[in-house]
Amino acid sequence: LPFPADLYRPLRTNSKGVEFGDRDALAELLAERDAAPAILHAAPSSGRSARPPRELRSPIDSSLIGSVVEADVETARAAMATAARVFSAWEATAIEARVAILERAADLVETRRGALIALLQSESGKTLDDALAEIREAADLIRYYAEQARRLCAEENLPGPTGEDNRLRRRGRGVFVCISPWNFPLAIFLGQVAAALAAGNSAIAKPAEQTPLVAREAVALLHEAGVPHGALHYIPGDGAVGSALVADPHVAGVVFTGSSETAQSINRTLAASNGPIVPLIAETGGVNSMIVDSTALLEQVVDDVLASAFRSAGQRCSALRLLCLQEDIAEDALAMLIGATKELRIGDPRDPSTHIGPVIDSAARARLCDYLTERRAQGRVLYAGEAPQSGSFVAPHIIRLDRAGDLREEIFGPVLHIAKWRAENEKDLSTLIDEISANGFGLTMGLHTRIEARMRIFAEATPAGNLYVNRNMIGAVVGSQPFGGSRMSGTGPKAGGPDYLRRFLREETVTINT
Ligand code: GLU
Repeated sequence: LPFPADLYRPLRTNSKGVEFGDRDALAELLAERDAAPAILHAAPSSGRSARPPRELRSPIDSSLIGSVVEADVETARAAMATAARVFSAWEATAIEARVAILERAADLVETRRGALIALLQSESGKTLDDALAEIREAADLIRYYAEQARRLCAEENLPGPTGEDNRLRRRGRGVFVCISPWNFPLAIFLGQVAAALAAGNSAIAKPAEQTPLVAREAVALLHEAGVPHGALHYIPGDGAVGSALVADPHVAGVVFTGSSETAQSINRTLAASNGPIVPLIAETGGVNSMIVDSTALLEQVVDDVLASAFRSAGQRCSALRLLCLQEDIAEDALAMLIGATKELRIGDPRDPSTHIGPVIDSAARARLCDYLTERRAQGRVLYAGEAPQSGSFVAPHIIRLDRAGDLREEIFGPVLHIAKWRAENEKDLSTLIDEISANGFGLTMGLHTRIEARMRIFAEATPAGNLYVNRNMIGAVVGSQPFGGSRMSGTGPKAGGPDYLRRFLREETVTINT
């Protein structure tokens, strides 16, 4: 059973070498988590909203976990105006001081892990290993962007044929609006905000409506580390608030992770402005496939498929949606896969032995159930697991497709589609990749093979942003596996990659005739 084993693996990426994954530390970790307060309240970090509080309920068991006062449009606009006023002071802060604040925040993410795990579990239904991986990623992203800022914000001398003194400086742009998703309510939330702040921007952080509490905790932690209150505003709110932020005249940049439709709508709003031309960094969805040929090692394929399709209840942009099995091994592979899927434990994610927790809320559950009911009526369900009836649980499902090209939409949950493919010569692989890629997305794609020529074709022909060969397709590691796609899947630059921070900066060349 693959996922809880991750708990006992040493950390791969934490730059401080803190080992959350040590088996002996598990009891201590659970005690820290269980000591965290059960009910929390959140409200915008600046201004006063006229909205009444909204109750927040856990996707695990619908229990009350807190409440949030959401920002109204006026509060959001006032925060934008303050952030614009404070920007130049924050930007003028010496880069070493900015970096030190962010590094302190990364340390706090690690020391507050008990409270963060509690929130990641109660608010977004994360399993323990997902919560740990997310905390690790959050700390890594903050440290990575701080380090990038230290490098990029150092003034560069550009000597050359002009004989003048030429210097290149990279500076903040102004107010960055950061709009993050509920599926990584800590890591993506903090990654966006840390990048904006490290580059010298002030930041407006709008969390997803489903996960305001963990975001509130993250902002409190950044303020505690030394980010001035005026330079970072926590603005929980609905789509109307998001639209007001993006349309605000003070906006100097938008970083967004979520649906392709919302990214397109933000793009339209920014394009319609008669003011400055404002960059959008968007990371959106994908309809991600894994191709398996008859030379693949099936035990490893099964392990990697389970992790890619069902870990985090399939609620990752990177998750596997479509498995393409070469015809001659398809029946064997499917039998092994169904056997292994039956072993997955679905239930309360606070139990460390659980593999699959709930989906984010009852609306997501209802959407997935409708989709599965339709597939059942079409006789396409190859396997349906069993899920608890209370809370927002959806059991893992395996669905049969006639052709790989039949899957066009992103089904955001523990639902794996299977199609067979026939390989007669090397060209068949590129034909299959073209058929899959006709869906217009380009986020992650996987291949299992032992034939090197196929690995080369795959790397050449695939428009996806993250390609994985002979391994699973999730959990991109900060700094080593920069994450993000192209086409309908996003604009780039990739999160956790060497070019990400540049997009948050403006460049200035100073030439002095000496
Ligand atoms: N970076 C995550 C991964 O590699 C996915 C992020 C997302 O779902 O947006 O699994």
